[in-house]
Amino acid sequence: MVNSPENPADTLARRGLMLILSSPSGAGKTTIARMLLERDPHIRNSVSCTTRAPRPGEVDGKDYHFVSREQFDRMVADEDFLEWATVFGHSYGTPKAQVKAGLKDGQDYLFDIDWQGTQQLYQKLERDVVRVFLLPPSIDELRRRLTGRGTDSMDVIAARMERARSEISHWDGYDYVVVNDDIAQCFDKVEQILYAERMRRARQTGLIGFVRELMVP
Ligand code: 5GP
Repeated sequence: MVNSPENPADTLARRGLMLILSSPSGAGKTTIARMLLERDPHIRNSVSCTTRAPRPGEVDGKDYHFVSREQFDRMVADEDFLEWATVFGHSYGTPKAQVKAGLKDGQDYLFDIDWQGTQQLYQKLERDVVRVFLLPPSIDELRRRLTGRGTDSMDVIAARMERARSEISHWDGYDYVVVNDDIAQCFDKVEQILYAERMRRARQTGLIGFVRELMVP
């Protein structure tokens, strides 16, 4: 699905939005996020800071800003984060400066953050936040996806399942919930949410002038 370029309402000035995509691991969040960033030119990744070490293939400044504990603590003290949280022993935070300026210019941001960060962002910037939670189609399918290549021990898999259950328990803190049965359909649904949210009257700052012109007798 594409936004029709002929529709004048698509070119009106608007305030950007913050699309938060959360899910237990194994629900396809990474794939959906990647598809959105590849296909939609108006949304960009919000790059978080983290104290955890880069994983193979991760690029500093693209996947995360990898920072030391001291740097992170200093940023907390300087109130440089919109939100921050400790997840599995490492700290993660959303830098404030870029996002705040971008939203004013109509830039949308995609957030891959956990439920704690989601709550904090919602409390601070309720009008800009759109919260989407992805669910796996069934517990069996989730187990299958978390079992990996069959090389992990039962304990490791059980721990992953427990973590997924704990993440799922926060499903009710979201505006939209999408069951990811089929990746293409799930993507379409998330895209539709994004398009509809962009058309919210309050976000379309350019509407006033446009409507005024339409109403000239
Ligand atoms: P990972 O280390 O696997 O990349 O991420 C671990 C968890 O931290 C994921 O649940 C991810 O959504 C969350 N996370 C990543 N960046 C942020 C952030 O800036 N703030 C918060 N609150 N959580 C984050």
